[in-house]
Amino acid sequence: MAVPAHPLLFDLEPKRPTTRQVADLVKEGGVSALTDAETRADHATYQEVRCRSALNRVEGMPFRWTLNPYRGCTHGCHYCFARRYHVQFEMNASDQFASVILVKMNFADVLRAELDRPAWTREQVAFGTATDPYQPIEGHYRLTRASLEALARAKTPIGLITKGPMVVRDRDVLQDLTKAAECSVYMSVPTVDEDAWRQLEPGTAHPLKRLRAVRELADAGINAGVLMAPIVPGFSSSRAKLERTIKAIADSGARFVGCNVMYLQDGTRQHFMAFLEREFPAMKPRFERLYQKKYPPETYRKDVKAMVRVLQQRYGLEPRPEMTKDEEEGNAEPEQAGFRW
Ligand code: SF4
Repeated sequence: MAVPAHPLLFDLEPKRPTTRQVADLVKEGGVSALTDAETRADHATYQEVRCRSALNRVEGMPFRWTLNPYRGCTHGCHYCFARRYHVQFEMNASDQFASVILVKMNFADVLRAELDRPAWTREQVAFGTATDPYQPIEGHYRLTRASLEALARAKTPIGLITKGPMVVRDRDVLQDLTKAAECSVYMSVPTVDEDAWRQLEPGTAHPLKRLRAVRELADAGINAGVLMAPIVPGFSSSRAKLERTIKAIADSGARFVGCNVMYLQDGTRQHFMAFLEREFPAMKPRFERLYQKKYPPETYRKDVKAMVRVLQQRYGLEPRPEMTKDEEEGNAEPEQAGFRW
């Protein structure tokens, strides 16, 4: 039998499944059907996929385009509104959201092609709306960096949200973006309270490390600020905790600050209530009363925001500009609503 002259050439680019195919596989055989997925030292499982599009069009938000090179997030914040999106892939919004991560290997290539289209009018893009673009695996795949390079080349303005101090690695590209278009980095630091951080955001970097990253970005001339999103009733909402957080944010040189109160919907609600039942059973009835709807009552939200506003003024922090009607009425999602456009 004739041996092909270069047999390895056919193995160099494995044919990766689409997210739809991943969902079909999981539906049939559970996560263990993802036989190509790799479990790494952090105990999370990474499934490489190929995407058909990178820019994702959204409605009813203060922006029209989003970018998410990964799906799922090993930061595993218990309040994360994006947990519920994991059910699109037939996975649960609890453990699997934080431990089965989809990696869109061709993301930057697809994005480059989309940005090169004559029809692309360089509208503002929100980066990191359904997952953290600087979760630890970005150190390996560098998909976020490659995407930022494409956006800078295409002079496309962005707002990027993250809890990952790794963003500092890419300050050179963010500087290019700042010169080429407009670029804001929203570091998410809901609280500097150590207990609340450990309890609510188990896989994230220490809040003060995140604030150091804000300082480094601001010193590099990048418009970097902080979102206290979300403030979680009973965990991070006391006046003393808010004041410590806002003082630390002011000390970091953040150029602006915004906040929002946690909301609970679909899979996120189920996950959060199960988390309370397991870790803080005495608090659960209070949360059930406060969260009869998606948001706590308007009076509660207004009180928290008013307290934050007073503290912001006390520490000389710029608020982010006017909120949209959706944000005022609580119809926009907290982290996403926090973007400044
Ligand atoms: S870092 Fe953001 S995307 Fe990741 S789990 Fe936390 S809130 Fe969700």
